[in-house]
Amino acid sequence: MKRVYLAANLADAQIAVDVLAMRGIRAHIFNANAVGGLGELATTQIWPEVWVEEDADIEAAKQLLDEIHAPASAIGKRCPQCGEENPGNFLSCWNCGQALS
Ligand SMILES: [Zn+2]
Repeated sequence: MKRVYLAANLADAQIAVDVLAMRGIRAHIFNANAVGGLGELATTQIWPEVWVEEDADIEAAKQLLDEIHAPASAIGKRCPQCGEENPGNFLSCWNCGQALS
């Protein structure tokens, strides 16, 4: 068992586990019920953790999780005409209007 992912919230952790399960990788969520403890503990955020059962699946799991957490729009496109960086979902350059491939 090894931790492969620290989720922002429980829904995020569940998505990660579901995606891994679709590829046949068995994973579990830990700390699922830790948020909202008693007294001072309640102010300390504890992130849900995703753990993979088989050590052999760790690399594949990390790669898969990287993929689902890297939206296409975050990958910039450089304009071939003016060289400005554009968000990945732009069809034409914000600066000069050149069509982006
Ligand atoms: Zn441009």
